[in-house]
Amino acid sequence: MKISITVVVLMTTVACSQSGAARTQDNAQLPQPQPAVATACALLAQIDSTALLRDLERLAHDSMAGRLIGSQGAIKARDYIAARFDALGLEVPPGGRLQRIPVSSQRLPDVEAAWNVLGVVRGTTQPERWIVMTAHYDHVGIGRPVEGDSIYNGSDDNASGAAALAVMAQHFQQSPIGRSILFAAVDGEERGMWGSRGLVDSLPMPIGTVDLNINLDMVSRNERQELYAAGPGRYPQLTAVVEAVQPCAPVRLMLGHDTPAAGPGNDWTNQSDHAAFHARGIPFLYFGVEDHPDYHRPGDHADRAMPGFYVNAVRTIIETARRFDAR
Ligand SMILES: [Zn+2]
Repeated sequence: MKISITVVVLMTTVACSQSGAARTQDNAQLPQPQPAVATACALLAQIDSTALLRDLERLAHDSMAGRLIGSQGAIKARDYIAARFDALGLEVPPGGRLQRIPVSSQRLPDVEAAWNVLGVVRGTTQPERWIVMTAHYDHVGIGRPVEGDSIYNGSDDNASGAAALAVMAQHFQQSPIGRSILFAAVDGEERGMWGSRGLVDSLPMPIGTVDLNINLDMVSRNERQELYAAGPGRYPQLTAVVEAVQPCAPVRLMLGHDTPAAGPGNDWTNQSDHAAFHARGIPFLYFGVEDHPDYHRPGDHADRAMPGFYVNAVRTIIETARRFDAR
């Protein structure tokens, strides 16, 4: 979920819209860049893009029926993600792979509980400090038909973020950072952020050891190749982290959408699961795109993802996490 009305803040320190491969070729004919920049570009992570796109299709498939919290489709999605975390061998936190979150029977009378899926990758040099990476896997289920289609598949929103968690976990497992990372696919965002609020209330580590929440919600498509990193407007110490990634990012990495100055509806601070962390004073980086014509419509299908953008968005998010950890 995430509603924007107009584009207001466009801080373009941008960056390059070319792919990393194209830029490498160009560099051969250009004056040598600063060593720090060249190194950073060279290190941009490769990810399992086949798994990423496969998981996106599975989670956004009609058989998941739009993944409404409490529905059989959401249970299927939960179990699919848990099986992925199991297959990767992600460490199970003390409370288990699945975290049961009570919900209000008054507000959600047909829902027994929300379910989060958790996995851990231990850090190398300060494993007692944490980054929590979240993405909601629920969507809005089956609703009013549009052109005969009543399944709101929620591919970009937010099968894209949930699928990204698994490949990011795989990456950090193979190449860990100093801090430990908790990967949390959370439930019930669309109906009140039950999963993320419950997670923050029942973290498997002391809340004071969480240095950052990285939240993904809608990361698989944008016509202008723009990916926002919201949060630095609230936590200025994060600005330099994002600015360090911008010159090397293979997408247009944007700042903004994180203060009242963005205008009504355009401040995303409380519009997705990072809000639960922000409410406890934990800094967040929220990665997402501006709304598109399929936003919260049955047409949000996996085949409308932009694979090149999607893969590069995930690589950019990984790089940002690495830069944060290294500072
Ligand atoms: Zn969403």
